[in-house]
Amino acid sequence: MPSTIQRSYRIRIYPNADQRAVLNRWFGTARWAWNHALERRSKAYRRRGESVSGVDVSRAITALKKTTRYNWLTEVPAGVIVQKLRDQDRAFTNFFSGRASYPRFRKRSSAQSVRVQIDQRQHRALSRWANEDVFVPGLGAMRWRNGAHPAQAPKMVTIRRDAAGRYFVTAMVEEAPAKRPAPTNKSVGIDLGLKSLAVLSTGEVLANPRHLRAKERRLRRAQRALSRKRRGSGRWHRTRRSVARLHARVADTRANHLHQLTRRLVDENQVIAVEDLSVKGLARTRLAKSVHDAGWGEFGRQLAYKAEWAGRQLVAIDRFAPSTRQCSGCGHVRAAVPLSTRRWQCPECGAEHDRDINAAVNIERIALEQLPGGTGEVKRVESGRPRGEAA
Ligand SMILES: [Zn+2]
Repeated sequence: MPSTIQRSYRIRIYPNADQRAVLNRWFGTARWAWNHALERRSKAYRRRGESVSGVDVSRAITALKKTTRYNWLTEVPAGVIVQKLRDQDRAFTNFFSGRASYPRFRKRSSAQSVRVQIDQRQHRALSRWANEDVFVPGLGAMRWRNGAHPAQAPKMVTIRRDAAGRYFVTAMVEEAPAKRPAPTNKSVGIDLGLKSLAVLSTGEVLANPRHLRAKERRLRRAQRALSRKRRGSGRWHRTRRSVARLHARVADTRANHLHQLTRRLVDENQVIAVEDLSVKGLARTRLAKSVHDAGWGEFGRQLAYKAEWAGRQLVAIDRFAPSTRQCSGCGHVRAAVPLSTRRWQCPECGAEHDRDINAAVNIERIALEQLPGGTGEVKRVESGRPRGEAA
């Protein structure tokens, strides 16, 4: 157990009109810097096959600031531009290594973000955070709710306005781990379902809550309504805003539900076993939409960091282990169980199986065998990294 851990915070904020105006300038400048840099880099790359580094662009922008035409660039904290160019560096690194597509130009209408450093020598900022303010130099303290507040000031915050017009502050803070729950001897296997969210080895089916499904239905209706409107018309714009708002509400509800679920799984169990699903591999199949909708990646991420805090063990079993095809009663392995088969009977011992519960039981057993004292090597799931800014 490390003495400190990196914990990520996401806080919904409500900047006032003045703060929104300042943020608008910051967003606009960051967007300009991103697009300006992207254009320079793209041109150099297309024409001469050259690569222009973020440092080169940063130098060029510093020179621009001294010109009358561009001196408005000095009206925002210098870090705003520097961080944006760093984001772009990372975006290019990801592109060149094949992890991401070519960086795109940023539009005024999409989500906006800036990163701002908080000087740890600035006593005022630190004491404001200690008093449960969300304080950003240049903006002051902002009204906030929704989300845990860190006990001390973060070194850097990301301020984001999503497409629905909501504002968030996110930050990573190094802190002592929260008090662990008492150890238990319980374990659980989780089969991530397509029909339900997940099925546990205890036989419990975790479904998406009804209020989430209702919100999703409303979202689908609004999306259909949007597709019927003439693109660019007044009605279209209004509907588009309401689609964005509904989208945000669905995402919030889903995230809250996942938090409750993962918290409970971690509280109740010492060992939590999941399949090591390569979501990227699945993303090319017809299951892609279900995978995306069910938020599997987020489920795993939350389980991983909560398990680490709580001193629990999250074990990911090899996704090629025959968790679905094997009878959890006698160990007989079948050739295959088609996706459409929900229930099956073991030809060896005659046991009747629900496809998902049987898989969850196997996942739990395989994981326990892998633990020290078991037969194999433990494969720990990498602890949850924060979702970095989508650069
Ligand atoms: Zn059997």
